[in-house]
Amino acid sequence: IPVLALNDVKLKVEDKEILRGVNLTINKGELHAILGPNGAGKSTLASLIMGINGLSEPTSGEIIFKDKLINGLSIYERARLGLTLAWQEPARFEGLTIEDYLKISGKNNPDLDIDKCLEAVGLDPKVYLKRFVDESLSGGERKRVELASILAMKPDFAVLDEIDSGIDFTSIEDFQGVLQEMKNDGITILMITHNEKLLSSADRASLLCNGKVIKTSDPETIKKQFEECKVCEVLDFEQKE
Ligand code: ADP
Ligand code: MG
Ligand code: MG
Repeated sequence: IPVLALNDVKLKVEDKEILRGVNLTINKGELHAILGPNGAGKSTLASLIMGINGLSEPTSGEIIFKDKLINGLSIYERARLGLTLAWQEPARFEGLTIEDYLKISGKNNPDLDIDKCLEAVGLDPKVYLKRFVDESLSGGERKRVELASILAMKPDFAVLDEIDSGIDFTSIEDFQGVLQEMKNDGITILMITHNEKLLSSADRASLLCNGKVIKTSDPETIKKQFEECKVCEVLDFEQKE
């Protein structure tokens, strides 16, 4: 059963076509990975699905979540429908303890168990509950806390935009466990990543290149196509320059 469908979604920002007709369907309970070169429009697509960063409405096309057209809905309205995103602006939560942060995240989750959320992401509650969400956390700890907040929220749908970047090899394996935990909780996941291990955890994957989904298939096939795509190579190079 499709939970999210994008139908011919286009987005122009200041005369620049960033998304050029995206078609994508994500099924209930699926872990779907998005691959694509730097600048392809992956983060823009994530923002548009979530309605954040000033992007709530495509220039044309439909974003359908649970059979509802969500074009133009606010982030709060979307959250009420069960859509969420790994926090992109943890600055808003600076100064809160991790305990409070997770309590706020999980305020609508009747089964909230904060210790369990922290343990699932490899953080000892005894050490971390009273720590503050601020610069005293390392980048890796911060990402773990973000993931714990998703487990606390237990949304129907989560978008993870390169949440693995900057995490070391050993914790990638922990992260695979967290993804599994999310799936067990019934969370459908859209995950933007280039990490091979995480990619192999996906049920399906899509290649986003130059503002379009050019293929959806199994993760192996998509990875191969990405590596062989000449357009991707050129775009990635241009963006890195
Ligand atoms: P990715 O996440 O795949 O690396 P992005 O979605 O961040 O790509 O960016 C896609 C393209 O859109 C890039 O060329 C980027 O410069 C451009 N872009 C992103 N946000 C804006 C914006 N607010 N205004 C203008 N251009 C933008
Ligand atoms: Mg980028
Ligand atoms: Mg990005």
